[in-house]
Amino acid sequence: MNNKVDVPPTLRIAGALPLAPAPETTPVRIHPRYGHLVGGRLVDGPTDADFATIEPATGKVLAQVGTADAALVDAAVASAREAYTSVWSKMPPAERGKYLYRIARRIQERSRELAVLESRDNGKPIRETRDVDVPLAAAHFFYYAGWADKLDYAAPGRVARPLGVCGQIIPWNFPLLMAAWKLAPALAAGNTVVLKPAETTPLTAMLLAEILLEAELPPGVVNIVNGAGATGAALVKHPGVDKIAFTGSTEVGRIIRRQVAGTNKALTLELGGKGAQIVYADAALDQAIEGCINGIFFNQGHVCCAGSRLLLEESIAPDFVARLKRRIEALRIGDPLDKNTDVGAINSAAQHATVCRYIDVGVAEGARMWQGAANEPPAEGWWVKPTLLEGVDQTDTVVREEIFGPVLSVLTFRTPEEAIRKANDTEYGLACGVWSEKTSKVFSTAHALQSGVVWANGYNLFDPASPFGGVRHSGFGREGGIHGIWPYVRLGER
Ligand code: ADP
Repeated sequence: MNNKVDVPPTLRIAGALPLAPAPETTPVRIHPRYGHLVGGRLVDGPTDADFATIEPATGKVLAQVGTADAALVDAAVASAREAYTSVWSKMPPAERGKYLYRIARRIQERSRELAVLESRDNGKPIRETRDVDVPLAAAHFFYYAGWADKLDYAAPGRVARPLGVCGQIIPWNFPLLMAAWKLAPALAAGNTVVLKPAETTPLTAMLLAEILLEAELPPGVVNIVNGAGATGAALVKHPGVDKIAFTGSTEVGRIIRRQVAGTNKALTLELGGKGAQIVYADAALDQAIEGCINGIFFNQGHVCCAGSRLLLEESIAPDFVARLKRRIEALRIGDPLDKNTDVGAINSAAQHATVCRYIDVGVAEGARMWQGAANEPPAEGWWVKPTLLEGVDQTDTVVREEIFGPVLSVLTFRTPEEAIRKANDTEYGLACGVWSEKTSKVFSTAHALQSGVVWANGYNLFDPASPFGGVRHSGFGREGGIHGIWPYVRLGER
């Protein structure tokens, strides 16, 4: 029997068994052009400022997308207001919950399609979209469906009233999941929404629009307007919006905060980060290495809570880095639709340029740069191999600024106090990780960290019941858990 597999050279690893390609083949329909969801209908909107959404793994155009102008944003807000006053805020909460359950189930039913589309539009591996993004998106709708009729019990003696119309602006790193994080709690609490997806990743939001129509969500309860910063700004400034929820860069978060100041709009911001992973000498080192990989490389570092600073206790640093490099050399980079792929494509040409520029700056400031993977990335598309920057210190640009790419800066410490001081020496405060077999050390370190989230002996672990969000320049407000619903309600007297 001839069982020789013809393996492309890009997948051959020196000294390791080659893996045959394992492509995900679920077909997904991509329309030539996408408009918007307004008033329960898919509408074309203006066509004079269309933009292309590009497949990061190939650099080729996937579809054209319309830009919502101020008039269309106005129509979306008006439709959200009408749905709020006439239907959604009046509906018994248990009935609202049924719609959320229906959306959750439909996301599950169409999960492979959503995963393929997300991988194509965002560049992240199918393993991640299939096993993380899409299941978590469904889980968020299931979770908040359960809260819809229980909110009053969570605030004894008081009544939880919705805020009204929410403008929600989301980024490109977890396009469907961020939509779910935003929509599910807002809808469960009785608000209606105008959602603006990121301009480089609008496609799963538009498949979600189809799902919302299939779920027969009343028209106008969710509106989706596509476009870039100007569309987002029109939503932020619109006087008919009661709350803005934004996830994105600290820079845009600052602009939005200034625009919302002095208005009656409620605001939550989930912004950038510069997460530190503190690894003590007594940690389970192989587990910590997997945590580092998971924290920065599996998602191309496209995560605001990425563990982009590695703080190693000095005594273990050389051994840890050697083992980490060996592990990185087994990571496969390339086709996001191949089920063997660990590291996908950088989301856009602009982000690729940013990441490469930071690596250059790091080297210019004295860092030793090391890159590894099991194979060479494809010739087309935007790729950055997992990168370590060693020999850096606290004042270096790459240690201070968010890179949003697969780049890990390696630092050392001698005492817990030094580890904590270095971890806190940042303007951000979104997430950190602490690795130690000694629970008391984990807790004393975690309590001293100025960080919205601290993972103990793990990293990038998410659950809809668990709140997530930052402090300092990483923003304010929480998503997930009961904490994630409070920013969408006004507590009043019965
Ligand atoms: P990232 O660096 O993650 O792309 P951005 O903050 O640039 O983050 O973008 C996040 C989201 O904010 C996107 O949907 C983008 O279109 C939107 N956005 C960009 N500029 C503005 C703005 N001035 N006002 C409102 N939304 C904006």
